[in-house]
Amino acid sequence: MTENAASPVIAVDDPATGRVIATVRNHTAAEVAEAVRLAREVQPAWQELGFRGRAAVLRRCQRWFVDNSRRLRDSIAAENGKTHDDAEVEVAYCTAAFGFWATHAERYLRPERVHSLSPFVVGRDLFVRYAPVGVVGVIGPWNNPLMNSFGDAIPALAAGNAVILKPSEQTPLTALLTEDVLRQCGVPEGAYRVITGDGETGSALVDTVDSVMFTGSTRTGRRVAERAASRLIPVSLELGGKDPMIVLEGADLERAANVAVYGALHNTGQTCISVERLFVQDSIHDEFAARVADRFRTLRQGRSRGFGQFDVGAMTFPPQLDLVEAHVRDAVGQGARVLVGGEAHRDGGRFFEPTVLVDVDPSMRCMREETFGPVLPIMRVHDAEEAVRLANESSYGLQASVFAGSAAEGLSIGRQLEAGVVTVNDALINYMALELPMGGWKESGMGVRHGPEGIRKYTRRQSLLVARLVPRRELHMMPFRRRNYRVLTALVRLLYGGSRS
Ligand code: NDP
Repeated sequence: MTENAASPVIAVDDPATGRVIATVRNHTAAEVAEAVRLAREVQPAWQELGFRGRAAVLRRCQRWFVDNSRRLRDSIAAENGKTHDDAEVEVAYCTAAFGFWATHAERYLRPERVHSLSPFVVGRDLFVRYAPVGVVGVIGPWNNPLMNSFGDAIPALAAGNAVILKPSEQTPLTALLTEDVLRQCGVPEGAYRVITGDGETGSALVDTVDSVMFTGSTRTGRRVAERAASRLIPVSLELGGKDPMIVLEGADLERAANVAVYGALHNTGQTCISVERLFVQDSIHDEFAARVADRFRTLRQGRSRGFGQFDVGAMTFPPQLDLVEAHVRDAVGQGARVLVGGEAHRDGGRFFEPTVLVDVDPSMRCMREETFGPVLPIMRVHDAEEAVRLANESSYGLQASVFAGSAAEGLSIGRQLEAGVVTVNDALINYMALELPMGGWKESGMGVRHGPEGIRKYTRRQSLLVARLVPRRELHMMPFRRRNYRVLTALVRLLYGGSRS
């Protein structure tokens, strides 16, 4: 375990102004270890509360979120640079998640009876039960400071675990707020901690907890997985994406254009499940690109102070602005045309204009690498087959969406796409359905959030077998006693066939 050699504090700025708004501690590995030790000590008390007791605490948190949503939105917008409307998505998600996991944790984690046809276990009762792993380390990115880190802590807590959350050093403030809230609402002191810091702090967390839930880039995710593998602890990875949208002849172009604009620009395009590649059939390409470009032109971009003021916000992470600019320059250098936008603005805040690119091809960086900004490259394709082939030509496989002449056609194309989630005539909104598992294929991740697996991953499974005790002389199968072998052999032969030996 190494100490964190970097600065002891981290400055947090407002991406829309560039001004420093707070500083937070850069916690050392020793401090992480101490937090985990304490969490391990108090976790049994939290588990002892049972599903009902924990649900009551989660519902108190939900109430607090409803009453203080404005404070949460302000905090998210200030440290991330997104609009208040986009910030509300995070607040609404977490508010709903408290209720969802309070209701569903018990249902998803109650012991299950297992029925077996094996003659070896006649007379036994079989069960699977789910026990909390202990201390879960949740590591999150900067694009959704509440939803993609704290949001994943909620099911971990609902399952009876203690949680240590390491937010991104770019956006740690909203997470810090949640620590106070949960304590006030009844989570025992130490059972939920927010440990601010940089990558080394995150790495120290992986070295000490019992399970890791990581959301971030594929590059860091790989390192986290390697480190977790060396300790043989479970890890769940929600990583990057390069999500395709396919629009074919016969699609509702009005709806498709609206969804494409929202899908590409929600959260200033800094969303793992953003629409990052748009494949449009030749015959409708020009009309569709014009519709999308017209919508982009009407958007208002700026520093949000409340609902409805702006449609697109700032770029959160300074190097990301340079990367988005580099992708656009690379595309233009290779023959792409900018229909709208195309420029970065660094006068105080960090902004990149909502940008539509056409005449792109798959060799360009904006079609191969995650751009993670307000840029929508539109590519002309001959037919559905070409669209599917190009959509699948990616190392990522997070989500994909299809707009076609009918839902059946959309579904049939969707089944050919290599992505963990496919939406037909829609995009992004699946994230709000907590019953529906969400997780990436290929280099977009390992494991899922939401649905039964979204909470079972924070548990250890224990299989239980109980032999019913019956009077000795009663006839029942006890295959491992010599006198029953003959009966057992006959039964196996009867069930599975085979000749006399
Ligand atoms: P990073 O991978 O850079 O960082 C994610 C988190 O990991 C941060 O808290 C970071 O700390 C921490 N970290 C960095 N190094 C280590 C390490 N060695 N060990 C443990 N933790 C470490 O991702 P970004 O913050 O840049 O987020 C953007 C990425 O997240 C995009 O690729 C996006 O697609 C993806 N993402 C995926 C989602 C999904 O559900 N699939 C959802 C949202 C985002 P610090 O920031 O302090 O360096």
